[in-house]
Amino acid sequence: RLAEFQQYRDGPAVTADGVPIAIEMNAGLALDMPLIDEVGASGVGLFRTELQFLIGKQLPTVREQTESYREVIEAAGGARVVFRTADIGSDKRADYMRGPLEANPAMGWRGLRMAMDREGLLRMQLRALIAAAKGTPLSILLPLVTTPREFEQARELIDKEIARTERLGEPVPSRLEVGAMIEIPSAAWCTSQLARQADFLSVGGNDLAQFFFAADRESEMVSGRYDYISRGFLTFLRHIARSANKEGTMLSYCGEQGADPLMALCLLGIGFRRVSVPASAVLPIKRMVGRVNLALVEEEIGRLLTEGQRSTLRGDIAALAERLD
Ligand code: PEP
Ligand code: MG
Repeated sequence: RLAEFQQYRDGPAVTADGVPIAIEMNAGLALDMPLIDEVGASGVGLFRTELQFLIGKQLPTVREQTESYREVIEAAGGARVVFRTADIGSDKRADYMRGPLEANPAMGWRGLRMAMDREGLLRMQLRALIAAAKGTPLSILLPLVTTPREFEQARELIDKEIARTERLGEPVPSRLEVGAMIEIPSAAWCTSQLARQADFLSVGGNDLAQFFFAADRESEMVSGRYDYISRGFLTFLRHIARSANKEGTMLSYCGEQGADPLMALCLLGIGFRRVSVPASAVLPIKRMVGRVNLALVEEEIGRLLTEGQRSTLRGDIAALAERLD
């Protein structure tokens, strides 16, 4: 078993019929970084930068942010790290932050919305990320994009920071990727356009499912009420995958549901080739990928989405997964 474990950990994830799949991990602290090698992730598909903002007593300075991002980049040892700019605001707020009290904070002043109204905050963070990259590749992911216009405006801000860095004679990233999170239905329905604007897209299934089912992810009474392995949600996700794949734009899924092997199987079956999951799920998902005949899974899931009668497909997908053994 140990040999099998090491084989999965150290090898790339490839389906039984030879399709490579990227399995990355989610992280939020420099402390998480050694897990990349321990679990065999190909990189960090989602680094949630807001943790540093939320645990401190005051706003971290540019220097403090730079130091922590540099630590993360160094610990990654050349692996790709996707830095998601801070998704803070109404729903995630530290004591030192002030702002309106909103009735529906998840749908309120957070993420890119707050960042664009308080441009200085975002610019400080961009400055720190650029400085931390020190001329190496940098991947930035923007949270809570609602419209293509918003993405465009944020990207202009990033361009300004790059230009400023150049003016100061400091090193700019050797390669800069700017991605958009698809975690709001309005963005999902603009996937084609966002795929042309952005260098990559990442589906934030936690928020996307919350808004799709109108079920607060923080509410114990409703958060588990609707199965994400359902015809409605999977058909919606398939639209996203098809639109992004048609444009040839890199697409990943970084919502926690990807840690559920049955959901990961569905994601492969509807066109995702990259997922980012909590570290503890990397190995089980890699193992599942190695046993999948992708062509068969695509066909079966396609059939279930058009022909099945039940709204939750979990039982059918579990039966499909069993046939893999
Ligand atoms: C998501 O919404 O799926 C996501 C990855 O972002 P967060 O969980 O930090 O909101
Ligand atoms: Mg989110």
